Amino acid sequence: MSNPLSIKVNCSFCQTEIESPPDMLGCKYHACYDCFLEKEELSELDEGQLHVDAPMDEIAPNVLVSKLMEDGFPEVWSRAKGDIKEMSKREIAEEMFAAGAYSMVQMMMGMKKEMEQDHEEEPEP
Ligand SMILES: [Zn+2]
Repeated sequence: MSNPLSIKVNCSFCQTEIESPPDMLGCKYHACYDCFLEKEELSELDEGQLHVDAPMDEIAPNVLVSKLMEDGFPEVWSRAKGDIKEMSKREIAEEMFAAGAYSMVQMMMGMKKEMEQDHEEEPEP
């Protein structure tokens, strides 16, 4: 997937050519996905300092799920984050993807059910 608005930059760590959306160009560091997974210290950087050129189909479900987890299940999430500290980023990415893919399916089925129920309960005009 190539975004026509993306601008070519080099990974700050391995110099691989990666793409950055224009609004991320101001970041201090740009990292390819491999460097992001391998370099533990990158997780210490503040948001906005680091742009990761991650494959959207890989990272999007993870980000979405962690956002949903934070909002919906803060208790579960804070416990999970404790465990996550013990894991490498690659393990986290794999775990999150597996868990994310599974909970996304569950969530979508739940939403579908809810929508169907809402629809049924709608009073006739
Ligand atoms: Zn790199």
